[in-house]
Amino acid sequence: METIEFDKLKEDISNLSDIGKSADRGIYRMSFTKADLRAREWLLSRYQDAGLESSVDGAGNIIGKLKGKDDSKSWIIGSHIDTVPAGGHLDGSLGVLTGLEVLRTLKKKEFIPNHSLEVISFTDEEGRFGGLFGSEAFAGELTPDRIHNAKDLSGMSIVDAMKDAGLDASKALDARRNPSTIAGYLELHIEQGPILDSLQIPIGIVEQITGLFKWQVRLTGLANHAGTTPMTMRKDAFQGLAEFSLEIPRILEENGKENSVATIGRVSLFPGSANTVPGRVEFSLDVRDTDESILEELSNAFRKAISAIARRRGLMFEFDILSQVKPANSNLKILEAIQNSCDKQNYKYHKMHSGAAHDAQIMARITDMGMIFVPSKNGRSHSPAEWTAWEDIHIGANVLLNTILELTK
Ligand SMILES: [Zn+2]
Repeated sequence: METIEFDKLKEDISNLSDIGKSADRGIYRMSFTKADLRAREWLLSRYQDAGLESSVDGAGNIIGKLKGKDDSKSWIIGSHIDTVPAGGHLDGSLGVLTGLEVLRTLKKKEFIPNHSLEVISFTDEEGRFGGLFGSEAFAGELTPDRIHNAKDLSGMSIVDAMKDAGLDASKALDARRNPSTIAGYLELHIEQGPILDSLQIPIGIVEQITGLFKWQVRLTGLANHAGTTPMTMRKDAFQGLAEFSLEIPRILEENGKENSVATIGRVSLFPGSANTVPGRVEFSLDVRDTDESILEELSNAFRKAISAIARRRGLMFEFDILSQVKPANSNLKILEAIQNSCDKQNYKYHKMHSGAAHDAQIMARITDMGMIFVPSKNGRSHSPAEWTAWEDIHIGANVLLNTILELTK
């Protein structure tokens, strides 16, 4: 059983959290912003100080490597150092920095693992340009189309953003790694939910990562005068949405399972004036579950429910699929190694699923994957209130270290 050197990890976490921090205490380190570029430089120098081989691939993924006896395959520990606007200091960063700490610890002990170990910070996980860009490139899922269409909210393309950073976006296609050179993938991440904190358990062993579908729905009726149009003669698009939203719990109960969740997070009414019956409503529908067949069933049920409401209310129903992500299962051998690592060190753990998407989900398409969660205080994340007790971080890093040692044995 080995342990990491916690002071160094703590110092790294503090130093990285200063990069891009603003007066509101939120971190603004969206991919390829000035702060992100500074953080990238900082991380590379930390890899070098640790004596790792460092490189940046075509997608801007930042890689540190400890060569093993057999260099034909690597175990990869990954996550991301970009943040959402006003993000917290641990989302993503903790996974990269604990990965670095694990490699640094082994390097210092002059330990040579059977297979090589790599720590990777993936580009734009959080989605300034759509999200999961680096891991998709790594998994060979990028297309020239996706690269050229990736733009941020201001219309800036990832091609231009990468050019400003001295990178050529078309090279992102070269970041594809042959799956036969990967032994497996591990990611440590904050839970970003309240479960571990409420159970007071330091380690979550992630069995599945949820899949999802996201729709942009349009209900179109007729905009008309709010004073002169009788209630019985209206085609009020908002009333259609309101009725549908109340049906969501029933639809989840009848067609979903205990992990199913559905959210309407964004609504626009048109024309959007107080004295006009809304003729059109556009809203997002985000639905998640860990089981692909349940997602399929939910998708049918939601479509039927909205159709029926629209028909009854004389509205037209259309929707676009904004995204669709398959659930991912963790590898049983890796789950067992995490569990053994906890048992050996007498740490309590809880088996759970991840309701948020992670680079690990993309990596699961090309290799064996496992994830370790540490608690998020009050379940807060994507906010300056994001916090995990130092003690839990210490435990998480030790679990990661001993898991990788068992896997590379
Ligand atoms: Zn993250």
